Amino acid sequence: MVNLKQQYLKIKDEINFEIDSVLESSQFIKGQKVSEFESQLGEYLNVKHVISCGNGTDALMISLMALNLKPNDEVICPSFSFISSAEVIALLGFRPVFVDVDYENFNVTAQNIIQAISNKTRAIIPVHLFGQGAEMESIMEVASDYNLAVVEDNAQSLGAEYTFKDNTTKFLGTIGDIGCTSFFPTKNLACYGDGGAMFTNDDYLAERLRLIANHGMKQKYRNECIGVNSRLDTLQAGVLKVKLKYLDKYIAERRKVAEFYNKELEDIKQIIVPKQQCHSTHTYNQYTIKVLNGKRDNLKQYLSENGVPSQVYYPIPLHKQQAFSSLARSGNEMTNAERLCGEVLSLPMHTELSVEQLQYIVSQIKTFFQ
Ligand SMILES: *Cc1c(COP(=O)(O)O)cnc(C)c1O
Repeated sequence: MVNLKQQYLKIKDEINFEIDSVLESSQFIKGQKVSEFESQLGEYLNVKHVISCGNGTDALMISLMALNLKPNDEVICPSFSFISSAEVIALLGFRPVFVDVDYENFNVTAQNIIQAISNKTRAIIPVHLFGQGAEMESIMEVASDYNLAVVEDNAQSLGAEYTFKDNTTKFLGTIGDIGCTSFFPTKNLACYGDGGAMFTNDDYLAERLRLIANHGMKQKYRNECIGVNSRLDTLQAGVLKVKLKYLDKYIAERRKVAEFYNKELEDIKQIIVPKQQCHSTHTYNQYTIKVLNGKRDNLKQYLSENGVPSQVYYPIPLHKQQAFSSLARSGNEMTNAERLCGEVLSLPMHTELSVEQLQYIVSQIKTFFQ
């Protein structure tokens, strides 16, 4: 599904230089590279504050902690997604309220969110799934109408840009009150271990996020609030400084792969290729097709037998996960989420796919459907 070794070899000298310099300095925690990386990423995203932390799940948790919610307050999140967003809501003693997603672009819609709002709703976590954005303009309008905070889960769509009705653009993750991302090795901007970050243009929230990520401590051993220990390693910050310079190139390479898949697969009647939305660019963290007529598992099996990896992101909607059986509430009918779990299949997608590999992958898919 990914080829991290090949990508590393192409930038090996730069990466090793950064890693060596951290080893030489022996400053492994905080250190200059972490703040340098934060300001470089802030510049790239055109956002005022970037606060790094231990991973993407922590970023979501710390963001929710910064919002001063009360026990049993409700937070709306998609049912078709990775577990992190719903998990941290429940972990902090709030109530996840699941909503259905759009069948076409896999993301939450403003309409579904409105249906799920109760007098306990305090926040929304839209997840920008697979590389492109949810309809943020409408979601921000709903948030403002109902006085809700918005925390964007942008772990999969860092670098994607959102276009508003007036044609202005912003990077996903910089539109809501707080944006979160992950630098897990398979994400578009990835380190060689765990890492994450939060973005905000709000000075007060930025201070809260920094405080909470560091044991509630601004001054040493003066704990102002309950926090956590969540930080980006200096070594990972060194790696990320190098890879940030290549992020646009990496995204362009992913788009090329997607273009090839689209062209080769769009004529197969039993497949729906991902649709590029007009309000958001696509960074193709995943290239996810829908396989119709119950053929998904057979196709996956056939590809696997012929040496082509593929993955089901995600096989079970969150509202059906045992972990949430007593904690959560469903905000509306989950027709699309349930259908998608049976149809989606993600194909190999990374920056190192060769033309030969791509041709082989699509030829296997075509043979299966012949
Ligand atoms: C990867 C991912 C996360 C979690 O990131 P970690 O760094 O693994 O904690 C959260 N949400 C989504 C949508 C993700 O893809």
